[in-house]
Amino acid sequence: MKVYADHAATTKLDIEAFEAMKPYLLNEFGNASQPYSFSRTAKAALRSARIAIAECINAEPDEIYFTSGGTESDNWAIKGTVLVRGEYRRTITSSIEHHALLHACSAVERLGYPVTYIAPDHEGVVQPVSLSGALTPDTKIISIMYANNEVGSIQPIKELCTIAHSQGCLFHTDAVQTVGHIPIDVKDLNVDMLSASAHKFGGPKGIGFLFIKNGVSILPYADGGSQENGLRAGTENVAGIVGMAIALKNSCKRMEEAAIRLKEYEGVLIKLLNSAGIDFVLNGSANRLPGNLSLSFKNTDGETLLHRLDLLGVSVSTGSACDSVNTQVSHVLKAMNLPIQYAKGTIRVSLGYENTADEVEYIATSLIKTLHRLGE
Ligand code: PLP
Repeated sequence: MKVYADHAATTKLDIEAFEAMKPYLLNEFGNASQPYSFSRTAKAALRSARIAIAECINAEPDEIYFTSGGTESDNWAIKGTVLVRGEYRRTITSSIEHHALLHACSAVERLGYPVTYIAPDHEGVVQPVSLSGALTPDTKIISIMYANNEVGSIQPIKELCTIAHSQGCLFHTDAVQTVGHIPIDVKDLNVDMLSASAHKFGGPKGIGFLFIKNGVSILPYADGGSQENGLRAGTENVAGIVGMAIALKNSCKRMEEAAIRLKEYEGVLIKLLNSAGIDFVLNGSANRLPGNLSLSFKNTDGETLLHRLDLLGVSVSTGSACDSVNTQVSHVLKAMNLPIQYAKGTIRVSLGYENTADEVEYIATSLIKTLHRLGE
């Protein structure tokens, strides 16, 4: 049996999204910025996609800026608001962000702009009181991820955003793991910027967006043509954008049903591990992304587990995808102070809409079999 259980790393392209993309790769290949009639269909497709995406997160269409994905959106949010000449702008973020955000912060630090990293609690939650305690008069931007990509903990974004605004700071959230998976209303949250990536919700790879609230001042990400309101130059990836919009609409439609099923599957997997007498910790808070299980097994090695499971046809990761070559304990588990004898033996099982009950059982039996063999 082959079981893909790494949906937090990437997802299969939604078939409807694929079909909707095809015309824009073949016959409707016109450059959306050209004024002639041949480009009208592409231009209209961009407009419709922007409207559809905005509706899914309760934004205005002109607040959606297409990017190449989560990494670009995160880099733009930080660098575009911090790197203002002559101003000493501090960023506050958490120590459990994705490397796209953390490395963007290191880049601004190297240019002389300070960054404060706040630690989460042991469940991987950034407590509002920690943010209040870290605020300084020179803080300009606060960026806290919506849900962590390793342990799945969902952050109290609305409260954190209110604290940021009370001090006149901008608030950005990396919502790459949450868009299309849990309901998002940017007006209710009142966030200033929000990053998303299509391949995490059934869209194509290499396309995403940054929500920028109207009125927020940000530097252009790329200079050149006047695409994306003059803030992100470059010929638009029309097919990718069309695919992203369809995938997001479909994900949002089935979100509730998917969450119920994935929570059920989580319960089955945990129950089977417990019945087999396995010593493990389920990381993260109770308010987690549906289907995301970060499991730490005592006195074993996550990397070895990953490869043994792979031999049995099960694809999981040891943490975030970009860390799968790195055998060290992840920065997230370190920040959560997980005891080292558990932290080293961590894998992330991230279930998706297409996983079946049989597959979940197969993951559990494969894990149990592997752990027993490793313990012999
Ligand atoms: N932010 C988070 C929380 C992620 O999980 C990822 C991808 O794993 C990214 C950013 C980067 O997104 P992309 O792969 O679209 O560049």
